[in-house]
This record gives sequence, C-alpha cells and structure tokens, in this order.
Amino acid sequence: MRGAMHCPRAAGTVIVGGFLFSVGCSPLRADTTTGVELFRQNATAHAAPAAFVQELSDRIGPRPAGSENDRKAIAWALDKMKALGLQNVREEPVTVPHWVRGDEHAELIAPESQRLAITALGGSIETPEGGLEADVIEVPSLEAIEALSADDARGKIIFVNVPMERTRSDEGYSHAVPARSGTAVAAAKKGAAAAIIRSIATGTSRFPHTGYMRYDDAVPKIPVAALSVPDAMLLDRFIKAKKPVRIRMTVGGRSLPDAPSANVVGEILGQEKPSDVVLIGAHLDSWDLGTGALDDGAGVGMVLETSNLIAHAAERPRRTVRVVLFSNEEFGLNGARAYAEAHQSELKNHVLAMEADFGAGGAYEVSFLAGPAAVKPMVELSACLSPLGVGQAVKGDRLGADLWPLRNAGVPIAEVAQDASTYFDYHHSADDTFDKIDPGTLAQATAVFATFAYAVSRSTHDLGRAPARKPSAN
Ligand code: ZN
Ligand code: ZN
Repeated sequence: MRGAMHCPRAAGTVIVGGFLFSVGCSPLRADTTTGVELFRQNATAHAAPAAFVQELSDRIGPRPAGSENDRKAIAWALDKMKALGLQNVREEPVTVPHWVRGDEHAELIAPESQRLAITALGGSIETPEGGLEADVIEVPSLEAIEALSADDARGKIIFVNVPMERTRSDEGYSHAVPARSGTAVAAAKKGAAAAIIRSIATGTSRFPHTGYMRYDDAVPKIPVAALSVPDAMLLDRFIKAKKPVRIRMTVGGRSLPDAPSANVVGEILGQEKPSDVVLIGAHLDSWDLGTGALDDGAGVGMVLETSNLIAHAAERPRRTVRVVLFSNEEFGLNGARAYAEAHQSELKNHVLAMEADFGAGGAYEVSFLAGPAAVKPMVELSACLSPLGVGQAVKGDRLGADLWPLRNAGVPIAEVAQDASTYFDYHHSADDTFDKIDPGTLAQATAVFATFAYAVSRSTHDLGRAPARKPSAN
C-alpha cells in the first residue's frame, strides 16, 4: 500500500482504505511534485551530514553552555551557514548558566575496597572538603524514595538503581530518566547526605553518564552523581547479598556567573510566502564528558546538510525555511525559551517545527502533532518518503526538548523518528565521540528529514495549530 502512494508514480488518484488520496506528494501543487521527487533523489544520493559532525566534534569538541567552546561553536556555525549561502545569518543573544565540573572520584569502603566510576550530574553542588563518606541504601525507583522513613535515610547516600531498557524509540529513556532529574530533591527531603543513580544508559560501559537534574529552592541541596552501569551493578550485588555498603565520594561541581551565548539562525527565504516559517533545529551545546558527536553534533549535521540541500534545490521553497541551532538545550533550555520569546509575534506564522536531537540512527517514521485538518496532508506528504523506507506519518507527541515552548504556543511539530537502539550506550558520556557515528544511517535520516522539510516548504497547506498540551504531559 505504501508503494502505491510514493512520489515516483505519476500524479493521479487511488482509493486506499476507502479514502481518496492523490498519488504523488499531494497536497503539493501538481507543478512541484516532480521537484520534491528530484529533491529526494538528490538527497538520497548526496546527503553528507557526517562531515559537519566531524568538524564540530573533532575540532571544537565538548561545548557546555557558557564555556569558551560554546562561543567557538557559535562562530563555527555562523561561518558554516554563510558558506552554505543561507540568508539573514545571525546570532540571537541568550544568557546561559555556566556550571563547571571539578575533581570527581569515589571508592567503595565496605564490604570490600574498590574504585568506582562516578560523575556529577550537571548542576550538582560539591561534596565537602575531603569527600563525603556514608552508608548506602538502595531503592528501585524514584517513587520508592518516598516510601523510605526519614530515620532510614537520614545522613545516608541514597542509591537509585533503575535499569534502562534498550528500545528503538525513546520509550526506554522516558521510563528511566525521571530517576536522574528528580532524585536530588526526593533524597534531600528524606534527609539524605547525597544521592547516586545508576547511569541512565544502556550497555555496560564503565563510563558514567551525566545529565540534567533539578534542585528545588525550598529543599536543601545535596550532591548527586551517576555511577557507571557496572559499578551500580556491583553495589546492587552486595546490597542484595545483605552486605552493608559504604562509599566515599568526591564531586566538585561549581556554578559560575551566567554567561553570554546565542542561538545561531539562518534562512532560505520563501519565494511565495516568505512570512510562513518552517523551522528546522538542533542544539549546538553538548555535555562536557564526550565531544558531543551524537548529542547533538549529529542533529547539527542533519540540519546544516538539510539547509545545504534546500538552498541548492532546483525549485526554491515557497515558505521560508529557518535553521535554528539552539543554545543550551542540555542545561535548562535557555536557547529554546529565548527563541520563543524573541519570535512570539510571528509564532502564528510558524507552520511547522522539526528538531533533530536523537542521534545518528536511521529514520523509520515521521510523527506529527498538528491541527485535525493536518492529518490528510501529513500522511500524503510523508508518501514522498516511502522510497527511503519510511512509513506513512502517524500522529504522535514526540518532540525535541527545544520545541516545547513552540509546541505550547500551538506551533505544529513533526518528528523524524530515528533508531536509538545504541544511542544510549554513549549519550552524555565520555564515549560520545565521532567514531560512534555511522555516516550511512545518518545520511539516510538526513535525506528523510530534508525531504519532509522541503515538501512542507513547497506545499501551501495550512497544518492548523498543535492541540493544547494535556496537563498530564511531561
Ligand atoms: Zn540532545
Ligand atoms: Zn543530551
């Protein structure tokens, strides 16, 4: 059935499941169907996003918000966009927090003596001079901290051990990640001296995985760190064997004054409806441990290569394609919020927003969140992707974190779902380096991302507004 709808077929109509669909990339006008088809063929044959990722990760490396490398990455992105021939290339100012990691190490004191691989979660306060030594109590979930008595928890190190399931989608991560963001507050409420979590990661690398976590001004701040998966398993084996576990940990994170940063923006102006915006984004910042190749160098490469393909397409887009490389996604979404604020008056003209922030795996699906009338055009536009092995677009609420402020303002969202089966082996760890990129799958994902963005920019269909956010949504 998918084959009956894809682009290479001549324009016409076909009855599918009782619905009348135009064959080809409808609702594109008949005169542009061929253009999108040629675009897809060119993107499939020539997309080369990995070269951008290699430059960014090898030459600049880690780019935490507020760092010198953050500034270098901004300058690099401005140069790249200009060299690609984008219009209105600019930086839009963003103020970001600036946290720096210090010395960090941990040792098992009892029941045996072992070194432990540990890393502070982003934003953690430091441990006291000489480190912090305490008995460890283990819980299997964030919620289980609630069930601890204050007598049990006071002065202890609470260890949250949530294994992450390996899944192709974001399901495994979504299930495990609250243990990272919420542990510091939940453990401090029980009077714990510190908290440690099993890295939110698949695989059994000895590298620990960092990431964002929250403090609450109404609750004392305690140090919080991630153990590598094998070290978390080691503690778990001793605790399951009823052995008392005691560790000493040192983490040295410090918050420096807020720093200037920027979103980097460039455009390919639409020929017919230049005020209509199709936003394509990724985030330029990364964590400090690796070189930010997968997260989110891959997304930066996808988006820059998409803009390259669109800027040089035979038929210019009807709507403006705006490239946004967001500042500081990892440590508070400052770039995303600054963009939504600065562009508030034109968000009604943002017809669609897409972000690439899920590694370098192959694309298998497009999901969308838009108005009710958008279902038919989204399904039909996605038919252009069939030769790339991507099924018909589906409704869904997946989106890159930078798109939350836009989504909350009603901007329709599309997400190119990429295979993340191995992404979380490396994500947020010292292992996030360029050698983990498969140029072939990244190129395929880029061809899908670019073709869909281009098809929307060549269509003139109104995709409505994203539905109001459900109160229960994350
Ligand atoms: Zn990311
Ligand atoms: Zn990340």
